[in-house]
Amino acid sequence: MKKYDFLIVGAGLFGSVFAHEMSKAGKSVLVVDKRDHIGGNVFCENINGINVHKYGAHIFHTSNKEIWDYVNSFVEFNRYTNSPIANFKGELFNLPFNMNTFYKLWGVKTPEEAKAKIEEQKKEYSHIKEPKNLEEQALVLGGKDIYEKLIKGYTEKQWGRPATQIPAFIIRRLPFRFTFDNNYFNDTYQGIPKGGYNKLIEGLLDGVEVNLGINFFEEKEKLTSIAHKVVYTGKIDEFFEYKYGKLEYRSLHFEHEELDIQDFQGNAVVNYTEKEIPFTRIIEHKHFEFGKQSNTIITREYPHEFSKDNEPYYPLNDDKNQTLFEKYKELANKESNVLFGGRLADYKYYDMHNVIDVALQTVKKLVDNEE
Ligand SMILES: Cc1cc2nc3c(=O)[nH]c(=O)nc-3n(C[C@H](O)[C@H](O)[C@H](O)COP(=O)(O)OP(=O)(O)OC[C@H]3O[C@@H](n4cnc5c(N)ncnc54)[C@H](O)[C@@H]3O)c2cc1C
Repeated sequence: MKKYDFLIVGAGLFGSVFAHEMSKAGKSVLVVDKRDHIGGNVFCENINGINVHKYGAHIFHTSNKEIWDYVNSFVEFNRYTNSPIANFKGELFNLPFNMNTFYKLWGVKTPEEAKAKIEEQKKEYSHIKEPKNLEEQALVLGGKDIYEKLIKGYTEKQWGRPATQIPAFIIRRLPFRFTFDNNYFNDTYQGIPKGGYNKLIEGLLDGVEVNLGINFFEEKEKLTSIAHKVVYTGKIDEFFEYKYGKLEYRSLHFEHEELDIQDFQGNAVVNYTEKEIPFTRIIEHKHFEFGKQSNTIITREYPHEFSKDNEPYYPLNDDKNQTLFEKYKELANKESNVLFGGRLADYKYYDMHNVIDVALQTVKKLVDNEE
């Protein structure tokens, strides 16, 4: 006897949206996750009153009103606007590159002056017709000052190799903004759930049966036998026992520290753009929710090689890995009772609004096909 219509592997955003929508459609679902908490990578741990983004800073942003209304139906969002600061050798700059950044770099006060200065900086590299690597590409697009102070060190730390060994296509253009606007995103809607992301996931999984601390592969036969269909949101290569080899990722290492002061850096996100400082940024979590606590918690973020002992964060979608993924995808397409979804199964970087959108579309297609 099959007890469930769907066994959902992974209580991240994809699994939670899928579970919620299918329950709403009258299906029976069981969600399992190998971690001891729900939410996947958007999970926050409340430490002494502060919601700590345990798997990296998450800022919700979208221009899709339907998705915005959807998440707001589970939890109200605050008005947090991401306006990161870059610290280069103790000098502070606003990001994304905008008039505040240009004023700090060169003292220019009008868009016209800023554009002229950038053209002057770029001119030095106009002889480079076909940039061979990221360094050349960045110099051609923005000139020396922006590259050396705001791009080089940060990018080299992110990728773990010199900019001359990073492919040029990584930077297609530099997003210059000729207004005094420090809002990092261009989207219509932006914010953080009031009370943290767990509220969103708890809302989605309200009334859904969830079993934590269960690794699908350790109980595959049993788990598969109790449901008509499996929805798998883990790593696609792991599902097929790495038979063609391992897909590569870039990983991160987080160092959390609680400080007995009210405010460490006056902003949620400060990037460290010089090479000599080993972390890429410091997150001060309370600022995501305008916290007034007397203490604070900061997290230093270190880019890291991916190995079996750390989390797969960013897929390396170069030709080699993409080709490998396509081979796994072919196998996945042949699995009639398993549905693959989410960032690890699709081997794709999704923002939160993207993954919610894909999960909603997937459910819609299945429900429509039944009718
Ligand atoms: C550092 C970082 C920062 C980010 N910042 C932002 C941001 O600011 N804004 C934004 O919109 N997006 C951001 N994102 C993207 C966001 O994290 C993803 O869109 C979202 O988490 C994807 O959800 P998911 O369900 O696909 O995957 P996940 O959240 O990874 O969920 C998958 C779940 O499956 C479970 N699982 C895997 N294998 C098994 C198994 N064998 N058995 C049982 N369970 C298993 C995992 O434990 C996990 O809980 C960021 C991503 C990263 C890496």
